[in-house]
Amino acid sequence: MSAPEHLLLVEHDVEGHATGWVDADPQSSQLRVTDVAATRGDGVFETISIGSGHPQALDAHLERFARSARMLDLPEPDPSLWADAVRALAELLADHEEAWVKTVLTRGVEGQSMPTGWAYGTVSGDFRRERTEGIDVVLLDRGLRSDAAATSPWLLAGAKSLSYAVNRAAVREAARRGADDALFVSSDGLLLEGPTSTLVLRRGAELLTPPTDLGILPGTTQVDLFAAAPDWGLQGRVATLRPADLEEADAAWLVSSVRHAAPVRSVDGAERSIDSELSAAMNGFLRRRLR
Ligand code: PLP
Repeated sequence: MSAPEHLLLVEHDVEGHATGWVDADPQSSQLRVTDVAATRGDGVFETISIGSGHPQALDAHLERFARSARMLDLPEPDPSLWADAVRALAELLADHEEAWVKTVLTRGVEGQSMPTGWAYGTVSGDFRRERTEGIDVVLLDRGLRSDAAATSPWLLAGAKSLSYAVNRAAVREAARRGADDALFVSSDGLLLEGPTSTLVLRRGAELLTPPTDLGILPGTTQVDLFAAAPDWGLQGRVATLRPADLEEADAAWLVSSVRHAAPVRSVDGAERSIDSELSAAMNGFLRRRLR
């Protein structure tokens, strides 16, 4: 049996304002072949986890959606309309413990000034192995300096744009090297983020994550984990990190909305210890979030 899936098309006027949304069939074609989402990857997206019908970190996701749209000079997405669309899909997926909704806003059909928008929801895959046994990670040079976001904003470092071909290529390169995932490093040697995740380290009683001004996404999962950290006797802190910090850390995770916290069990083939107890606490917390 195929997984349940649902689609809402978010309609816009020529001024770029969202006017409402309508149900659509996710199994039939909806996108014009001249939509710049398809031809140029020119748009933005978010992937929001749904826990038993509750969208998680929805406000943070919609804020980041708007931030990415601003970075691409797209019209500001209407937060209440998109929130309603996500909640409507979440309700349809309420029978499932873990699901996700992807929101997409593109510049629209080439030559027209009307954005294309949609929200699509379905059930999540099974990430139990990644969350408990951990993942093998390789460090990949992103080829950009850590100040690229400031010196070259047109590179859109830190925007969640639809141009994720580079991120997918990094995951394939990781697979070629026998690993599950990648962790980007700036050309001047700072740890950045995974292709679809944020890095979190534990050093003693501190949780550490790299600063977003390095041209990385502000992770919604990381923010929620840092807010919960005191419950585990920990304190969250943003810090500039290098590969040596990862090597010396007591534990490391790649965290993201749908996979949640995946402990890193090796880096470039070198095994490292994982913190199973804290991983279980983090994943339990992330799964149970009601908002
Ligand atoms: N960094 C990148 C490049 C991502 O694509 C993602 C999520 O897909 C993240 C970080 C983690 O963000 P979040 O925790 O909000 O899912």
